[in-house]
Amino acid sequence: MIILVMNAGSSSLKYQLYNMLDESVLAQGRVERIGMDASILTHEPEGKPDVRQVSEILDHNTAVKRLTDLLTHSEHGVIRSMKEIDAVGHRVVHGGESFKHSVIVTLEVKLEIRRLFELAPLHNPPAMMGIMAVEANLPDVPQVVVFDTAFHQSMPQESYLYAIPMVLYRKHKIRRYGFHGTSHDYVSSQAANKLGEPLASLKMVTCHIGNGASCAAIRNGESVDTSMGLTPLEGLMMGTRSGDLDPAVVPFAMSKEELTINEVNSMLNKHSGLQAISGFSSDMREITDAMKDGDKQAKLAFDMYTYRLRKYIGAYAAAMNGMDVLVFTAGVGENSVVLRQAVCENLTFMGIELDPELNESKSKETRIISTAQSRVKVLVVPTNEELLIARDTYKLVLEAV
Ligand code: ADP
Repeated sequence: MIILVMNAGSSSLKYQLYNMLDESVLAQGRVERIGMDASILTHEPEGKPDVRQVSEILDHNTAVKRLTDLLTHSEHGVIRSMKEIDAVGHRVVHGGESFKHSVIVTLEVKLEIRRLFELAPLHNPPAMMGIMAVEANLPDVPQVVVFDTAFHQSMPQESYLYAIPMVLYRKHKIRRYGFHGTSHDYVSSQAANKLGEPLASLKMVTCHIGNGASCAAIRNGESVDTSMGLTPLEGLMMGTRSGDLDPAVVPFAMSKEELTINEVNSMLNKHSGLQAISGFSSDMREITDAMKDGDKQAKLAFDMYTYRLRKYIGAYAAAMNGMDVLVFTAGVGENSVVLRQAVCENLTFMGIELDPELNESKSKETRIISTAQSRVKVLVVPTNEELLIARDTYKLVLEAV
């Protein structure tokens, strides 16, 4: 079975074509600058040279047409005809309370995703454009939607409710949803496989640390808490996002600096985090490089970032009455030796003991980085959200026939 996985943003569209017989990637690529002049399509077919095309791609519909042309192209293609594609899986950021699992796209599903636009105004509309574009270009192919929020729908009320008037939850569904669910789901299964233990017997804290960052407390394979909330702003300090802060800061800063709602939103989402404290970058590589050169603000940014992460790990161990496994994933979590070291070195009281040599390994495979005696096993697991989307799509489409 061949499955196309799509991740549509407002001006971009990433894709991967999987052969589910062996879960190999036949081709991957991305279209950038959709709707702008000089759109760029990068196509990387397996075993063939990469293709880079610069042209005008005004909408997602045209983007899907171009990428499907390339997938079947005599020289750059990897399949003979679009009929070989059995299903398309889409990443959708917000599934609200309606979607606790991935689902096959129907009219009702599309209407519900549309109703959820107000909860994710930047993310859900482009995902819908991707779904419509596939419908137009591949009309008979079943589509599946996989939600970033779905994995966290198992959270109990005590962790997902805010302590504000219940009417806000009842009327407007203001609550914590959590994000990066596909990643937390994928890495927790991978970690259990690596340890050779059933997921259903483990208490895990998974740390997805990329530009955006979140932790999840996973007990018996189910998310019981996660650090992001109604939006991906809550929780850990991130590249450009503040993470947790006293909500009273918002009206206070607004009145002192005469900020509008949009301005304060932009300040907290785009001009905070590592960027704000270091004063020069949101990129962890640049922060750690500058730290080595003695930059005090970079050091402060790094210390705040790791301190907050450590507090969350401790809180989640308390939430689950213990932990067996700690997982690091995503750009920073998979690659930053110093971050993992800084986070873990003050968690020895919880039975976390990193092996410095294993921590420094450059392997791109799932690996254990704690010592043999460490009570809590620490792992680095490369995330692969696209593969999980492909697997869910495969499973749902097989069940439907
Ligand atoms: P996104 O949240 O956009 O998917 P990624 O998971 O790709 O982000 O993570 C991107 C971040 O990973 C970059 O901002 C960079 O700070 C960090 N990163 C990548 N490689 C390294 C590295 N070798 N050391 C430290 N940080 C790294």
